[in-house]
Amino acid sequence: MRPTSTSLALLLAGSLLTASVAFATPSDGTRGPGARRLSHRSRSTGFPWDGRLRRGVLLHESAHVRYTTEYRAAGNFWGTWELVQLLERAAYRVSRRLPGAKLSVGELSRERGGRIPGHASHRSGRDADLAFYMLDGRGRPFAPFAFAAFRGNGQGRGVNSGLRFDDARNWELVAKLVADGDARVQYIFVSNALKRRLLREGRRRHASASVLRRAEAVLIQPSGHNRHENHFHLRIYCPPASRPACRDRAPFHPWYPGRRPR
Ligand SMILES: [Zn+2]
Repeated sequence: MRPTSTSLALLLAGSLLTASVAFATPSDGTRGPGARRLSHRSRSTGFPWDGRLRRGVLLHESAHVRYTTEYRAAGNFWGTWELVQLLERAAYRVSRRLPGAKLSVGELSRERGGRIPGHASHRSGRDADLAFYMLDGRGRPFAPFAFAAFRGNGQGRGVNSGLRFDDARNWELVAKLVADGDARVQYIFVSNALKRRLLREGRRRHASASVLRRAEAVLIQPSGHNRHENHFHLRIYCPPASRPACRDRAPFHPWYPGRRPR
């Protein structure tokens, strides 16, 4: 599906993959696909729903990042330099402040962008699906096989009812993403119920007013059938280096990098 200029629902459409069962993964020590390629010269072109990625950068597994097992084989962990660095920084910060868990990433983009089955966007290296940090029945960090859905009360749904939404780590992640001075976040799709939960946690942890305001603005439950109660969908604005070939659409928050498109 392609969004029209008037369809916010489609514009916002993120991952349509809604696998709901989370299993412990036996190992997350394997290397990612492809060879290491560090490049500051990546470029995003077009819109996230019709664009491409040039000289994409691979997000590697590390001490604080793992691939969500279900998505590992497809290898769609490529993004712009700015997106990949943002995820590295955010996962690192969470692991430093609240040690013991890795960020479980879902799909980003293909190496050269373009369509990925199950996604309306993710075509230009500026989108990333992120599993929530979650805890098992004994309060220990849990590394899921697949995304797990959570209710507003923090309890896992269905077969994942033994899992808990990890308020502290998920808030830390959001706080770092929205406050980053390099990559600028346009959206983090998540259900309204979990958004309320995250903001409550932020206030409880005495987050600054500006971080809370940004989180309030970018945490959005998309209209349509996918409420995003089993993962975050992150989108960054076009990095200045990728413009004007890279295209953004409103909303343009005050932290939009550079001059806003007309
Ligand atoms: Zn997505």
